[in-house]
Amino acid sequence: MKYIDAHCHLDLFRDPYAEAAACDSSQTYTIAVTNLPSAFANSEHIATGRRFVRAAAGLHPELVAQHPQALEQLLPLIGRTKYVGEVGLDYVKATPSERQIQRRVLERVVEHCENLGGRVISIHTRRAADDAIELVAGAARSKVILHWFSGSPKAAARAVTAGCLFSVNPAMTRSSTGQRIIAAIPDDRLLTETDGPFVKHEGREVHAFQVASFLPAIARVRGQATEAVGSMVLENFRRAVTIEAPA
Ligand SMILES: [Zn+2]
Repeated sequence: MKYIDAHCHLDLFRDPYAEAAACDSSQTYTIAVTNLPSAFANSEHIATGRRFVRAAAGLHPELVAQHPQALEQLLPLIGRTKYVGEVGLDYVKATPSERQIQRRVLERVVEHCENLGGRVISIHTRRAADDAIELVAGAARSKVILHWFSGSPKAAARAVTAGCLFSVNPAMTRSSTGQRIIAAIPDDRLLTETDGPFVKHEGREVHAFQVASFLPAIARVRGQATEAVGSMVLENFRRAVTIEAPA
């Protein structure tokens, strides 16, 4: 294992199987998140036989309101994998009642993960950091990874106290909010992600096998050596996935 992509939508690339093969050849351990439970079986298939790709069962917060059955479809899938995501809260376009549904779904997911002994959970939050952190703070058996975090410094500090990790991507290295967050993450909480194919790097979609290409930008923002950042990310990931759950 050389690199970590803690949040990648492998299934949404043109050729997911080629992407997965590239994860193996570049030794990039990749959490292949999904946006709906109905997409999980396909991601499991993409990950089959791959040493460095794991399928995560998810339900994207922006899809929660339109898919009222999805939570009941998601919960049994969590029994089949150590990885859960993308789940979370997104208040940008949500009405108050949709926000409430999102919170209820996240609460049930986290509770289910805890009942199963803990999971590695990749969390999306937009304009909802305080509520999301409150909902995951008690999840002592799971490892919570805040993906593309954009909350306030106060919220970030609260997340650190709650034991969360942060997966950062190249888009964050280009914005002032992203840079502020990257600089504030403690050494033992830092992870990398691409959020491919949604994130662009130098005008092109970022692939999981390209993590090495943006490690220097993260290191620069943190004022650390690229090699040091690379090895702390590996160490943090190893620690995060060492939980009792199905491989
Ligand atoms: Zn995503």
